[in-house]
Amino acid sequence: MGRLDGKVALISGGARGQGALEAELFAAEGASVVFGDVLDAEGQAVEASIRAAGGEASYIRLDVTSDDDWARAVELAESRYGKLDVLVNNAGIARGAGIEETSEELWDQVLAVNTKGVFLGTRKALPAMRRAGGGSIVNVSSIAGILGRRLAGSAYSASKGAVRTFTKSTAIQHAAEGIRCNSIHPGPVDTPMLAGVTDNPELLTVRTNEVPLGRLGTSQDVAYGALYLASDESAWITGIELIIDGGITAQ
Ligand code: NAD
Repeated sequence: MGRLDGKVALISGGARGQGALEAELFAAEGASVVFGDVLDAEGQAVEASIRAAGGEASYIRLDVTSDDDWARAVELAESRYGKLDVLVNNAGIARGAGIEETSEELWDQVLAVNTKGVFLGTRKALPAMRRAGGGSIVNVSSIAGILGRRLAGSAYSASKGAVRTFTKSTAIQHAAEGIRCNSIHPGPVDTPMLAGVTDNPELLTVRTNEVPLGRLGTSQDVAYGALYLASDESAWITGIELIIDGGITAQ
C-alpha cells in the first residue's frame, strides 16, 4: 500500500531537482501526479520515466508567475484525475546579490517566482481542494527564509521569508475546511540550483563545513519531508516549518 494511495497531487517546478524527485516519489507512493515547469523537454522526460516505472503522472507547462497557467494545471488535475488533494509549491529561482547590488528588476523577478508564484498557486488550488473535501499544501521555502544569510542573497531570502509567513496565514484561514498548509526549509541541497557551489571545490568545502551532519542534502532528504506533509500521516499538522538542513540552524 502506498502512502499517497488515491491522492491527486500538483507539483510546481517538477522538471528537475527536488520537484522531479517529489513527482517520482509521490507517484511511486500511489498518487496521480500533475507536475509543471518551464523546462518542457526535461518535464516530458520525467513524465516518461514515471510512466515507465508504472506510475501515473502528467507534465504540463506551468510558469508559476502566470495565473492562466495555474488555472490550466488545476483544471488538468480535476479533469484527468477527478480532484486535487495536494499542492507542492516547489518552483523557485536563486539569484543572489547583496542589497546594494540588487537591481529592482532582479528583486521583482525573484519575488515573482518564489513568492507570487506560491500565492497564485495557492489561490487556484483552494477551490479545488474545497471541492475535494480538504487538502494539503506544502510550500518549499528555505533556511534562507528563517535566517539572514550572506550567501543566499537578499531578494532570495526575502522571497522565502514571505513564503514562511504566507504559509501560516493559509493554514489559519483554511484549517476549518480541512486544508492544511506547511512549509519546508531545506539547507543546501545538491541540485542544479546549487551548481555554482558544487562546481567550485573551495566553496563546496565551505558550505559542507557549515553542516553538522557533514554533507549537502539530497533531493530525497527533502522529498521524504514533502511526502510526510502531503500524506494523511501529518493530518494534525498545519502551519509548521519543517527544517531539513543537516543541523545548520541548530547551531
Ligand atoms: P532546481 O533549480 O533544480 O529546480 C527548480 C525548478 O523550478 C526548475 O525545474 C526550474 O525550471 C523551475 N522553475 C524556475 N522558475 C519557474 C517558473 N517561473 N515556473 C515554473 N517552474 C520554474 O532547484 P531545486 O533545488 O530543486 O529547488 C526546488 C526548491 O527548493 C526551490 O523553491 C528552491 O528555492 C528551494 N531550495 C533549494 C535549495 C538548494 O540548495 N538546492 C535550498 C533551499 C531551498
